[in-house]
Amino acid sequence: MKYDVMIIGGGPAGLSAAIYAARGGLKTGLFEKGIIGGQITVTNDVENYPGFPEPLSGFELTERMRQQAEIYKAKFIDEEVTAIGMEGLCKIIETSENTYRTKSLIICTGAHPRLLNVPGEERFTGRGVSYCATCDGALYRDKVVAVVGGGDSAVEEALFLTRFAKKVYIIHRRDELRAQKIIQERALKNPKVEMVWDTVVQKIHGTEQLENLELYNRRTEKVSFLPVDGVFIYVGILPNNELLESRLELDSSGFVLTNENMHTNVPGIYAAGDIRHTPLRQVVTATSDGAIAAYSAEKWIMENYDDVIGVENNDNDEQ
Ligand code: NAP
Repeated sequence: MKYDVMIIGGGPAGLSAAIYAARGGLKTGLFEKGIIGGQITVTNDVENYPGFPEPLSGFELTERMRQQAEIYKAKFIDEEVTAIGMEGLCKIIETSENTYRTKSLIICTGAHPRLLNVPGEERFTGRGVSYCATCDGALYRDKVVAVVGGGDSAVEEALFLTRFAKKVYIIHRRDELRAQKIIQERALKNPKVEMVWDTVVQKIHGTEQLENLELYNRRTEKVSFLPVDGVFIYVGILPNNELLESRLELDSSGFVLTNENMHTNVPGIYAAGDIRHTPLRQVVTATSDGAIAAYSAEKWIMENYDDVIGVENNDNDEQ
């Protein structure tokens, strides 16, 4: 099965790459093993994607992108990629079911939440410990919750949780938040939010369910216990780079290094979105990356092959 462009990952970066590549007339396939839409699907209100002054959900936004890619005949392949190989210029993609060959490849595998790695975290996941306020917030109506972290995710999700919980602690390891000022201000003046500065969670206690957090104040060096019904952990993200480590150049945190044209160190392989070493991880930057990656892939195909297979051959897997 041969393609002009194959894309791994169906978040905003991958969907945007698929729209641009398929609309450009290239035979385009997109692999997604989970739900189309990626991490943003669990965000309730996307307020800063240009063109949508009324917030819309991450699910709705990416569903619209998926429909747009389908209009241009991008093919969605519900298979998990297990290995990436090379044969001359050609890229070989192995899934659990098939082997695909493609002229160019765009990596949009995204990232996933970092764990706190403290005792009790794993045991109480799903029983008080959560990584998704949108999924689990409604379970905490009139209850007391804590959010761990000081970045945009922690503070935004803490604000979201104030819709349900009667009290939301934000536990941050420093005395200053990393989140954008506008969100910080909203949180700091919300009467339901209480900041717990200079503090880390060192253990999560409970019997059947989470009951309290063992905290350590890094300034006073005191240990205390905070009774909560739930804790939401937002301490950053890690790259989904398992397929890539031996092949692509990565930064010290494991994100793929690219130039401004989304080229990786391997000709014909591009990276876009959260998997990339980038100063800003937003839907708007991911979609921009995806568009540039598709444009670069098309240029590279034109320079290295006589012609393209073409979008009209999308249903012909033997091409
Ligand atoms: P982030 O910006 O990397 O922030 C992670 C936070 O967790 C930091 O405050 C960090 O503390 C803290 N932290 C890290 N490891 C910790 C540990 N072991 N124990 C306790 N605290 C720990 O991650 P993020 O908030 O998930 O955001 C990821 C990316 O998505 C960012 O680029 C962000 O701007 C973007 N984002 C944007 C929006 C938006 O604009 N609407 C919304 C969500 C996310 P320090 O501050 O001390 O390092």
